[in-house]
Amino acid sequence: MAEERSQSTSSTSDGPSHSGPRPPRPAGAGGGPGGRKFFRRKKVCKFCVEKIDAIPYRDVRLLQGFVAESGKIVPRRLTGVCTTHQRRVTRAIKQARNIALLPFAQRH
Ligand SMILES: [Zn+2]
Repeated sequence: MAEERSQSTSSTSDGPSHSGPRPPRPAGAGGGPGGRKFFRRKKVCKFCVEKIDAIPYRDVRLLQGFVAESGKIVPRRLTGVCTTHQRRVTRAIKQARNIALLPFAQRH
């Protein structure tokens, strides 16, 4: 009796181990990562420049520049104001919210 054992060792399934031979890169075509253009904004706090000490919370148009469309307060690194004034802006926005001049941040 010949018992036929089909030993399934490593089945020769030709899977895609490597995605084909790559074409060689054309050398000397690119000029390197030098073409990145980002214009630098002046990172000067506008309140410091204009010597504004207290942020008027009634100035909605001013405060809206620091509130995103969603109602969130724009972070300092985007607004460019200094820490001191960002804090004052935040307080002013919160005050403005309390008297319904500005919307609250949308909740999920
Ligand atoms: Zn400032």
